[in-house]
Amino acid sequence: MHDQPSTHSGIALFVRYTCAMRALGFYTGVLGVASAMHGQGASATWLLLLVSSCLAWPLLAWRLSSTSSDPRRAEFRNLSVDTGLAGFWMAMAQFDLLPSALLVAVMAMDRTVVGGLSLALRSMAVMAGVALVTSAFNGFAFQPHTRFATMLWCLPFLVLYLMAMGVAARMFSEKVRTQKRILEQVSRIDAETGLATRPQWLALVAAQLQRFQRYGAVSSLLMIDIDQFKRINDTHGHLAGDQVIRDVSALLHASLRGVDSAGRYGGDEFGALLPGTDRQAALEVAERLRQAVAERVVVGGVPVTLSIGVAELAPGMDSIEAWSGAADEALYQAKADGRNCVRPQPA
Ligand code: GH3
Ligand code: MG
Repeated sequence: MHDQPSTHSGIALFVRYTCAMRALGFYTGVLGVASAMHGQGASATWLLLLVSSCLAWPLLAWRLSSTSSDPRRAEFRNLSVDTGLAGFWMAMAQFDLLPSALLVAVMAMDRTVVGGLSLALRSMAVMAGVALVTSAFNGFAFQPHTRFATMLWCLPFLVLYLMAMGVAARMFSEKVRTQKRILEQVSRIDAETGLATRPQWLALVAAQLQRFQRYGAVSSLLMIDIDQFKRINDTHGHLAGDQVIRDVSALLHASLRGVDSAGRYGGDEFGALLPGTDRQAALEVAERLRQAVAERVVVGGVPVTLSIGVAELAPGMDSIEAWSGAADEALYQAKADGRNCVRPQPA
């Protein structure tokens, strides 16, 4: 649960949580307070008032929140009424120790979960204020001794409410874990192309570099850039440009093996990591990709072409920058040589 449930589903969850916990709290909490008041000789009218208010309020609160145009605000108002009611009935039960202590503890804990320490402190102040005023009207009646029967009637509140909080905490932490997984996935995969994002791809390159430094494993990088992509955008529009990026990505993905990794390096630039592939084999992979794109990706009747730079990992390349820089240099050479071609790193 969060201090500021801001999304629509976040608010719905917050309202459902507080309403369910309110119903459970009032329906079980009323038992201990009723037992205390009964033991103190409260009239049937007061007992009836206690029971009916504790039964009706959670239903009314649910209605107020679910029909409000601002459910979150309505629910925070309801939380204040909760504490006011708790303060009122605590004073009417003449501060019978166990039910009172449970009400204070549960309200404080619950408010801390829902709105942090500041809400908990505000709620405690409301509770104390209402209890004080009620107690003044009640002639400051004070009977803190808790009978054994009242202790027993307090148990359902104590046990069920704490269990429910545990279940809710577990549900929330699972939800947070799921959202974390989704976020991690979003940061690893480029939404447009389904390829690895730049940071994710660079992390794979870094891991391969470490393998090379430790075991001397051969591998190569391709740096791939779409030729005159700006012109494609300018002539055919950004949507056509986006489609070209998706088509090139699909062909790139299809032309690699399972152990290879393709990433979207930037706008119209891609990278491919080819473990276990030397310079010659990487040049062939790059050439096949260049041809496949030139044959199959067409925009406005004009084939889309790629320039590709290839760099095999070599001794002395002790950083990602050194390795990708070599592939970049090869890519610039391909551009300089008139585009639509593959070039290896300078010897
Ligand atoms: P060059 O052959 O030298 O690479 O020329 P170019 O026009 O391709 O030049 P450059 O690579 O610098 O241009 C990339 C353009 O791609 C610039 C940017 O507006 C556009 N671009 C970047 N990301 C996207 C995207 O996701 N979708 C679309 N439609 N355009 C993009
Ligand atoms: Mg380009």
